[in-house]
Amino acid sequence: MPNANAQTLDAYWMPFTANRQFKADPRLLASARGMYYADPDGRQVLDGTAGLWCVNAGHGRVEIAEAASRQLLELDYAPSFQMGHPVAFQFADALAAIAPGGPEAGLDRVFFANSGSEAVDSALKIALAYQRAVGQGTRTRLIGRERGYHGVGFGGISVGGLVNNRRAFPTLNGADHLRHTHDLERNAFSRGLPEHGAELADDLERLVALHGAETIAAVIVEPVAGSAGVLLPPEGYLERLRAICDRHGILLIFDEVITGFGRLGTPFAVDYFGVVPDLVTTAKGITNGAIPLGAVFASRRVHDALMTGPEAAIEFFHGYTYSGHPVACAAGLATLDIYRREGLLTRAARTAEAWSQAIHGLRSSPHVIDIRTIGLMAGVELAPRPGEPGKRAYEVFTDCFRNGLLVRVTGDIVALSPPLIAEAAYIDELVDKLGAALARVA
Ligand code: PLP
Repeated sequence: MPNANAQTLDAYWMPFTANRQFKADPRLLASARGMYYADPDGRQVLDGTAGLWCVNAGHGRVEIAEAASRQLLELDYAPSFQMGHPVAFQFADALAAIAPGGPEAGLDRVFFANSGSEAVDSALKIALAYQRAVGQGTRTRLIGRERGYHGVGFGGISVGGLVNNRRAFPTLNGADHLRHTHDLERNAFSRGLPEHGAELADDLERLVALHGAETIAAVIVEPVAGSAGVLLPPEGYLERLRAICDRHGILLIFDEVITGFGRLGTPFAVDYFGVVPDLVTTAKGITNGAIPLGAVFASRRVHDALMTGPEAAIEFFHGYTYSGHPVACAAGLATLDIYRREGLLTRAARTAEAWSQAIHGLRSSPHVIDIRTIGLMAGVELAPRPGEPGKRAYEVFTDCFRNGLLVRVTGDIVALSPPLIAEAAYIDELVDKLGAALARVA
């Protein structure tokens, strides 16, 4: 492990990081097991964020390491353009068997990418290609939602709704946004789904009236917005969005990069809400974070619409060198085995109540203006310091880290999403440490 001095930290241009601030006072994670990271000195840090919403089965899973290692020696790489290899087919089958919404939903055609961003861009392209294939080629507009996060590709930032990710870059022509659903005035400290706001789905009717349905290919939303600070959909909102999409021939895409693979206590958010979209994007938990991989679940209707034309013609001009990478797929298969054996895709349903109870216990901590939980995720929103947005939460984050807890902050919201293996004692430790940090930070 290199020394954490400025000299050795220069070359690495870190992503989504205040590089100069970080390098002046680095926070390094050197190893991990179960629920804990350790820093280079061996100090334990409780993982309150499953890495970055991805290490759902906890760290250091030997089965995944062994499967990846075996695969590297068996077949390290094989191209997937006009060629195939068994592991990608096996993994696609295994994913199809647990596809969002079960067999009736028909979301069991799988396109591989290498990250959430790539899964999103792939799904947006599939939507555009579908509309063209069914004779709806004027539908080129993509709709996202304010405060949505769909990764950092040009497609993803175009439908994304976080201003800092957009302001410096050009975005796709015609992309537009639904209003976000966050409403502290009406919904603060809700238990369960927020009661108010289903009518915000009608904002899609506004965009239809403004642009014409015949220009709109697809709408993409996170069923539960993660990166914008754990924003739950109001009761009835997703159902209403689905109905409006149906009415106007618009495809609905759920971005389940965070909610996929058990975070809500069901395998996917589709299962939790009982609302079936046309495409679902996933990544992160698909390999327990161990190897980069993304996947789009497409409905048979969408997939089959593209399987037309001359058989010798490539149906969809899109793909990545590493789409269906054998090592990633082997890691994915081992991950699904663990999820199945340990019941992790539904475990959060059993821990959700105790989790919610514990996190809501922070309600009277200083500066807390809202708490939201669902499954095994939570957002604790703090009042911003006047004139210094985000500063208070950032200090909570650094205080927590110094005291052995990793949390994530976005603006003035502390986001929590521990590995799904979390037992009660870990949840107590997490809440104690976060509560102490909140009490310390001015
Ligand atoms: N979509 C959602 C909902 C996400 O939360 C993320 C990452 O946090 C992404 C897409 C992008 O994923 P990646 O960072 O793997 O590109």
